[in-house]
Formats: sequence, C-alpha cells, structure tokens
Amino acid sequence: MRLGQTLALFALILALLTGMSFLGYRYLTLASEYRARNMIHLSLVHDAMDILAANPVIRPEAARQIKVLAERADAQAHWCIDNLSMVERKGFELLGASAALDLCHQGIEETHKMTALLDQLLQEDAIRQSGANSPFARNLQLLASVERLERLSHAFHPHVNMIEDRLVRIVEGGTAVISLCLALFFVGLSRQMIRSWQTQAQQTRDLNRMTQRVAAAMGASGDGFAIFDDENRLVTCNDTYRELSHAHPEEVKPGMSLGEILVGAVHAGHYALHGSTPEEFAASYNLRIESRDFRAETQLELAGDRHIIARVNETDFGDKVVTRSEITQLVRNERQQREAAEALKEAKDRIEQQSLRDPLTKLANRRHLDQELARRLSHETVTLVRIDLDRFKKINDILGHEAGDFVLCHVADVLRKHTKSGDLPARVGGDEYVILCQAGTTLRQAEVLAKRVLAEVLQPVSWGNKRCNFGASFGVACGEAGAMSASELLSNADAALYRAKASGRATVEVFTSEMRQEAQAERALADQLQEALERGEIVPFYHTQHDARTWHLAGLEVLARWDHPSLGVLPPSRFLGLAKQLGLEAEIDGQIFEAAVQQVTALRDMDIHVPRVAFNVSAPRIMEPGFLDTVQSRIPDNRDQFAFEILESISCEEGDDALIFCIDTLKDMGFQIDMDDFGSGHASINGVLNIEPHAIKIDRNIIFPLGKSERAERMVASVVDLAHTLDVKIIAEGVDTLDKAKLLRQIGCDTLQGFYFSKPRSFADLKLNLLGVDQDRSVI
Ligand code: C2E
Ligand code: CA
Ligand code: CA
Repeated sequence: MRLGQTLALFALILALLTGMSFLGYRYLTLASEYRARNMIHLSLVHDAMDILAANPVIRPEAARQIKVLAERADAQAHWCIDNLSMVERKGFELLGASAALDLCHQGIEETHKMTALLDQLLQEDAIRQSGANSPFARNLQLLASVERLERLSHAFHPHVNMIEDRLVRIVEGGTAVISLCLALFFVGLSRQMIRSWQTQAQQTRDLNRMTQRVAAAMGASGDGFAIFDDENRLVTCNDTYRELSHAHPEEVKPGMSLGEILVGAVHAGHYALHGSTPEEFAASYNLRIESRDFRAETQLELAGDRHIIARVNETDFGDKVVTRSEITQLVRNERQQREAAEALKEAKDRIEQQSLRDPLTKLANRRHLDQELARRLSHETVTLVRIDLDRFKKINDILGHEAGDFVLCHVADVLRKHTKSGDLPARVGGDEYVILCQAGTTLRQAEVLAKRVLAEVLQPVSWGNKRCNFGASFGVACGEAGAMSASELLSNADAALYRAKASGRATVEVFTSEMRQEAQAERALADQLQEALERGEIVPFYHTQHDARTWHLAGLEVLARWDHPSLGVLPPSRFLGLAKQLGLEAEIDGQIFEAAVQQVTALRDMDIHVPRVAFNVSAPRIMEPGFLDTVQSRIPDNRDQFAFEILESISCEEGDDALIFCIDTLKDMGFQIDMDDFGSGHASINGVLNIEPHAIKIDRNIIFPLGKSERAERMVASVVDLAHTLDVKIIAEGVDTLDKAKLLRQIGCDTLQGFYFSKPRSFADLKLNLLGVDQDRSVI
C-alpha cells in the first residue's frame, strides 16, 4: 500500500475513533448529569418524605410544598428523557440504558399520580372529606407514592453506574486504540520519513556526484561549456568558455547576464567588429538574445582572426546550455583552400586566355585561329591571308633570337596597324602569320591588304645599330561557308603562298585551282623525299665551267638531281625547297658531296683530269659538327681542285662568326670558296669582304638580260672591277648564247658557265663527254 493510502486509512480510523471517543465523553457527561439528576431527584423525594413525616395530615400548605418538590423531581426525570436527541437515545439504548429510561417514565407517571393526589389535597374541602378521600388516607397514599418514587430513584442509580462503567470502558478502549493507532501512525510516518530522508540523502549524493562529473567533464572538455538560467544569467561555465567569451576571462562570473558578458567582451576587444562600433555590435547581438533568436549554431569571429562556433540548447525549464568550440584552424584551412581554389581558377582563366594568345606577339595563336576559323566557316564565306617571312631564319641565326623576336613583334605590329577590328591577325608558327579577314572581304580586298602589309614589311627596320632586311610572301584564299573545311582553306592559302615563294618571294599570290594540283603534287613529293634519300635517288649532275679566254674546261659545278622512278630527273627547284622545309637540306648536300667525291675520284682513276670541282653547300651544312671532318677525310689531297659554292644570304650586316670560322677552316684545309648568286640580293659586298672568296659567281638573272640591258652590262662590269680590285675571280653563270660569252670575256670575266656550253649532265654522260665520245663544246 502506498504512503498516501496508508495515511488516509489511518486518518479515517483515527477520525472514527476520535469521534467515538468524543461520543463516549459526551455520554459520560450525560451519565454524570443523570447521576446528578438522580441525586437531586432522590433528595427531593426525601424532602417530600420529610414533609410527609412531619405532617401526618397534609395541610394545603404542606401539600403545596410537596407539589413544588414533586414538580422539581419530575423536571429531573423529564430532563433525562427530553434532553436526549434521537441518536443519543439510540446510543443509550445500545449501552443498555433502556431500563433506566423506563424508570424515568415510571417516575414521571408516579409523579403525575402524586401531583393528582396533592391537587386534591389542595382543595378547600379536602380536610373535611373522609374515608378513602380523607386527608389521612390521602396522606398515606401520598407517602406510598413518594416511597415508590424513592424506590424508583434508588433503582435508577445502578443503571447509571452500569452505563458509566460501560462508557468508561468504551472511552478507555477507544483512547487505547487511538493511542495505538497514533503510535502505529507515527511509527509508519517515522519509517516513511526515514525512508524519504534516506532517498533524499541518496539523491543528494547522486546529485553531488553528477555535479562533480559534469564539472569534471566541463573541465576536461576542450570546448567552452556554460549553463544559463531562464533569465539568461550564467549559472556555471568552464575555463575554456571564459577564455572564448572574453578577452579577460576572469571577468566572466556566475550570475552575470549573457548581455553583460557580451558588452564587457565587446568593449575589451574580444570580437572582430568588422567596421561596426562596439555599441552597434553589442546591440545587434543583444537584440538576438532578447528575441531568443538562438540558432542551433552561430559562427562568430573573434579578434586576431580567431573563429568559434556557439551552440545553444534550451531545456524545457528555459535553461540554456551553451557550448563554444574554437574552429580557427578549420576556418583558416577552409579560407586557404578557398583562396587556393580562386587562385587556381584565376590561373586557369589566365592560362585559358593565354592559350588563345601568342605570348611573344600578343596576337591570336593557332588555337584561337582554328576556333575562330571553324566558327566563321560554319556560317559565312571566309577570306584569309597566309604570310611567311623571307630570310627570317637568317636573322635568327645571325643576330640571335632577340633580334628574331624583335622582327616577329615588328611584323605583328604591322599586321595590327593594317587590319580592321573584324580582322583576326594571328601568329601560327615560327615566322608564319595568318590574317582572318572580316566577313564580306573579297579576294581582291584581301590581296590589297596583303600588298599594303608587304610594302611596310619591306621597309628596313633597325635592331640596335643593325639593319634587318627581310621580306614576306603572301598567299590569299577564300572558302565558302559549308563548302570548305578549315584545313582545306588553309592549305589553299598555303599553296598560294608556296607559289609566291617560288616566284621569287616578297610577292602576293591569290589561290587558283592549278595551285591546288601543284600543291598536291608537291605534297606527294615531300612524302617520298626521305625514302628517296635512303634509296640514293638524289644524285649529282655536273655543269661544266669554261675558261673565258680559251673556253677550255675550267671546272664542274655539282648540281643535285632527284632521279625519280616515275617522274624522271627532277631539278632542285622541285625538291630543295621541300628538303629545306623537312630539314633534309644538309643531308642532301652531304649525299651529293660524297657521291661526287667518289665519282671525281673514279674519273681521276680513269686519268680524266678535271681542273676544279665546285659543290653547292648550304651555310648550315658547313656549320654542322661532322662536315669539316667528312671533307677532310674524303678529300685528303689535291684540295685546291675543290671549291664550295656558298650562297651568302646573310640578311643583316653582321657576318656569322661560326660560318666565317668554318669557311676559314675550309680555306686553311686548302679548299676554295666561291660566293654564289652574287647580285641576286642575297650576296653583298660586305659578305665578300667578310668571306674573302676565291671567286664570285654573278647570278644568272643578271647574265640573262645581257645584250638587251645596258644596266645589266654596267652592273656586271662594276662587279668585275670590284672583284679584280679585291683579287677575286669572276664566274658568270647563265651564259646561254655565244654573244653573251663573248661579251663576258670582253668585260673581263674569268670563267663562264651556261647552257651555251652545256647543260648539267649525269655522271655517265659527263664521263662520255670527258672521254670525248660526244661532240659537246665543253672539251674544246
Ligand atoms: P645555282 O647554284 O645558282 O646553280 C646554277 C643553276 O643555274 C643550275 O640550276 C643550272 O642548271 C642553272 N643554269 C646555269 N646556266 C644556265 C643557263 O645558261 N640557262 C639556264 N636556264 N639555267 C642555267 P639547277 O641545277 O636547277 O640548280 C638550281 C639551284 O639549286 C642552284 O643554283 C643551287 O642554288 C641549288 N642546288 C643545286 N644543287 C645543289 C646542291 O647539291 N646543294 C645545294 N645546297 N644546292 C643545290
Ligand atoms: Ca651554285
Ligand atoms: Ca648560282
């Protein structure tokens, strides 16, 4: 049974018993009253008896006295009956008082009888009556009645005793039971209280333990931890919380409100305010606290680039558990990552931008051009100009890369100057450019543009105190939208460009359909050239040179030919350009040289004497590491019989030290050096002075117009004068008529070479010719 129920039961029992006890006392009081009334009654009866004894004849006076006594005695009996309530009467009856009450009734009846007797005695004539009504008789009757009353009164007394006994027992019993119950109640209560004390003590212990655990956990936690009550006042917190909440942690004390801590901390410079005043910052924060706007997590920045996360959990009682964790490192790492990502993106964008631009000239690059070309070709007719610089390689080789870069940038500036906003000038290779003309540009307009650019490019520019001479060749082509691919259009422009280069450079060519076929044929040859070299199809041909006075054989010029299996013998103009592009030029020179040396040796073995043999050698080939060794080992003796024709096409005025060194070495070995194509624009007087050749070969293009052009004649004459002044021999090539031969002899040329004397021959033909088998002029 629960404590409450037990207590309720006890209380009920106690109330019942207490009620009974009170009832018992009430009945005891009644019983005492009854006893007293009984005594009074008896006393009154005795008084009446005394009056009767004193008055054998009852006079009215005595009768009156007795009547008063009788009435008073009657009042006692009446009190005993009338004074009881219904419940009391029932209670009395239960206590066995019925007999006593009967006695009371009897006493009342007897008193009534006595009163009747007395009333008769009070009548005037009573004294005079006789017999049974005589005063005497009546007196006796009265005495008998009083005696009965006395007996009744005496009989009443034991009943009162009995009732009192019973009531005393009931009250005693009740009191004892109450005491017992109270004792039990108190025992129970005490036990209950002891138990409750024990429980409370246990709970207090548990609470202390829990508090200590929480305190230990708070202390041990790396995070700040605090509890605020429902009025936002600090209940408790750990050191970390203090440290993370205030620049002066010792100022954070229990009882302080959240707002007070904040204002103090803000003014102590604990938070990063980011431009707001301490008051503004505190106000906005306080507003948040007051509006109970506690988000689950709030990130805050402290001064000194420190960062924390504050978490608030509200309990059902309105308490707030606040944690503060330092996340400075995390935030800094994230920031670094973010910055790194941004820098990466910037770099990527920059690279993306750069990837579309040529870093040197800042023009669009090949990639950009390809993209733009593909885009434009998808919906419009595109006209473009391909540009290739002439003699750029020389500038690079001789003046160095800085000069080369200067020239490339200069050309870029020229392109920028002459193009409009819709044009896209681009640098697509070493010395190659393209102008993608704006929409609607016709071939004619593009040609005009190219010529304007060419005119400006041909203007000499200075690099430091040096002058750079270079030119450019242009190929113009156009393609209709959807009808031509970008690569097709570019290769058409390429074909035109090739034609421009082939036709003497520094010109503009517009693409025609024949050019495509030429270009295709060219490409086919280019594909075969490497294999041709491996198969030994590149062979030496020999062109005779003659003494200008005697016309006797003065020497041979070795000229390369491609003995093509299906196309026949191809001249160098068909493959030397390709070889240059493919980087095979030096290899061709080498192969020709070796074959020619072998064949000249064979002629010597056959006792055929050739006074002089001249090889065409490109300048880079001479400068190749193995070239001088090869020459030395292949031609051990009679070296003055051999010459190297070098095309001195140095475009700037400074000689190439390495080339001069190699040339000097060749001279030291005993070889002769001829300067080829003098007057063609490639060779210069400066070159003559630098190289100091044995002979100068006047370019055939100067010789061809001889007889028709006085200017050519004068030019040849002045070259001859110059050469003779410098003690250098003169060879004229391109001598295709007798008149020219005579004229040149007259002017003073030393050696003549040309189709008038012979055409270049194969080794087999030469051999026959030199053996005198044929009737050619060469052996005259
Ligand atoms: P080049 O060194 O000026 O050679 C002379 C060219 O003029 C030869 O043409 C020759 O056939 C031609 N020629 C000479 N006299 C006459 C003439 O009276 N009438 C005509 N129409 N032409 C004449 P080829 O053999 O076609 O050579 C062209 C160029 O190819 C040469 O010009 C030379 O620069 C180059 N070349 C030829 N063989 C070699 C070689 O083995 N190595 C190198 N690096 N270049 C070579
Ligand atoms: Ca030559
Ligand atoms: Ca020549």
